[in-house]
Amino acid sequence: MKNLIKNFIIFFAVFLLLAGIFSLFGGGTLTGKPKSANSDIGTLVQDINNGNVASIVVEGAKLTETLNDKSVKIIQKEDNESLSDLLKNYGVTPDKIEKINITVKNNSGSNYWLSVILPIVLPTLIIGFLIYFMMRSVAGANAKAMMFGQSGAKEFREDAKNKTTFKDVAGSEEAKEELKEVIEFLKFPKKFREIGARIPRGFLLLGAPGTGKTLMARAVAGEANVPFFHISGSEFVEMFVGVGASRVRDLFNRAKKTAPCIIFIDEIDAVGRRRGAGLGGSHDEREQTLNQILVEMDGFDGETEIIVIAATNRPDVLDPALLRPGRFDRQVVLEIPDLKEREAILKVHSEKKPLSADVDLKKIAERTSGFSGADLANLLNEAAIATAKLNEKEIKMQTIFDSIEKVMIGPERKSRVITDREKKITAYHEAGHALVAHNLKNIDPVQKISIISRGRAAGYTLKTPIEDRRLHSKEEFIEELAVLVAGRMAEKIIFNDVTTGASSDLRVATDLAKSIVTEYGMSDKLPLRTFGTSDELVFLGREMREGRDYSEKTSESIDAEVGKLFDEAVKTAVDILNNKKADLEKIVSALMIKETMEKDEFEAIVGKK
Ligand code: ADP
Ligand code: MG
Ligand code: ZN
Repeated sequence: MKNLIKNFIIFFAVFLLLAGIFSLFGGGTLTGKPKSANSDIGTLVQDINNGNVASIVVEGAKLTETLNDKSVKIIQKEDNESLSDLLKNYGVTPDKIEKINITVKNNSGSNYWLSVILPIVLPTLIIGFLIYFMMRSVAGANAKAMMFGQSGAKEFREDAKNKTTFKDVAGSEEAKEELKEVIEFLKFPKKFREIGARIPRGFLLLGAPGTGKTLMARAVAGEANVPFFHISGSEFVEMFVGVGASRVRDLFNRAKKTAPCIIFIDEIDAVGRRRGAGLGGSHDEREQTLNQILVEMDGFDGETEIIVIAATNRPDVLDPALLRPGRFDRQVVLEIPDLKEREAILKVHSEKKPLSADVDLKKIAERTSGFSGADLANLLNEAAIATAKLNEKEIKMQTIFDSIEKVMIGPERKSRVITDREKKITAYHEAGHALVAHNLKNIDPVQKISIISRGRAAGYTLKTPIEDRRLHSKEEFIEELAVLVAGRMAEKIIFNDVTTGASSDLRVATDLAKSIVTEYGMSDKLPLRTFGTSDELVFLGREMREGRDYSEKTSESIDAEVGKLFDEAVKTAVDILNNKKADLEKIVSALMIKETMEKDEFEAIVGKK
């Protein structure tokens, strides 16, 4: 549409120009009107009657009269009246005319032809021009419609000088370690093939916005020195059904021609949402696109040297089919950086910026807990802008501090800054989980504790999740419940107050306690049976179909049993927390400094499990 308007304007301008030229000529040659007429027919007739005229030259409507004294007059006559008729009409006698030397010049000059041809040719040209333009814009639209099917994937070949490598990605050591496999494979595919290893095809980068997923994917391409196709999930989705799928096909075909290479699908959740889920109609287009991605990935044979890397910050909504072996079976988590990592990221981004001597990156890292890599990059950029505004040559510490607020309250507030009090509460909460888990014999060892907020949780304590085991005993469940309530109990013991931070713990604990009683038949007070039917109808949501197949009285007993389980769990947790208060304090002070704690650091405080 925009193009059409543009063409029209061009056409209009050309038209004006031609009209201008036309009228310019028009004054002179086109109608054959001499500009220099300085006499008239009347004078001419007089001159002839007086016998003063020696000769007349006729050129169309222009008469050039040469007098006996050699002076020349130019006269304009009517176009299609012959000179002799004209003179006769004026009553000039034939004998007078005979005496004059009259030459009729045939109008063969270019001007004459122009005057004849232009009026015919010009409109034809203009109309032709117009038709051509219209055809072209229609053809253009057609061509664009054809191009819909092509992926808009941008291909990067990182040039040797500016290529992104792991050096540009600070921290995230575990993720780098896992991704080294991709690089190995792209560099030495033979090594893997000879040994009969099936090469992973898809890597899924998970992480909050701004944790460097896109950056990491580029770094992998840079390290492996292969081309890199970058497309965003939303680019697959267009107005027309089927476009997405054809774009996927096109993308993979292009990639196959350039293999070995990396295909990077950013924000894959735009197409990779759980299929058939959600009320309000499934999205056909998305499903087709997703199916096509899966088909293409399944179609890789042992020889295909393409690795697909996808990124998302919503792993929870992804279709399980995406995560099956042979597809995105490797998952790499990029976390919000902790203190040490924040310092490293600041270092990377301050390399090209002149910092004044008083800048202490560690201090900045301490004040930016909760910032993502992108926030930190943005922080230094804001500080640089502020410095330039102040006409200073070096970025000062105070300028950076001032920019922290700007980044925090900026237009898209990505990071939640954690106040010291919040940090402390979170530390006690997580330390509570960890300590209780450590002191119960059926709970797996704690792997990691973190007080960096992740999603809606203020922090997290990682242990091998209980769901990974097949069979669970009642004792195990009860201990699990104690661990779940331990966070809340630690807050209560220390601060004599509670926060909303435990709401998801309580949800999980409640579900677990209910399951113990109603699903697993583990209560002594109730007959051995299950309570409630649950039809797993995904799209209606589970809860909606859960039916009650027991009496009101049983319902009360179930509530009572669930309550008892909670009482027990709370008692267990509180006992442990009270007995091991010294350990609790030690864990908290370590967490307040380092924010995250690995298994061995934790065990250095509380001893081996
Ligand atoms: P995501 O794709 O996860 O949303 P990006 O990869 O787009 O995040 O990161 C945005 C920017 O943040 C990067 O261009 C980079 O400047 C900065 N950044 C993020 N993480 C890091 C990191 N670990 N090291 C260095 N810079 C980082
Ligand atoms: Mg990104
Ligand atoms: Zn908790």
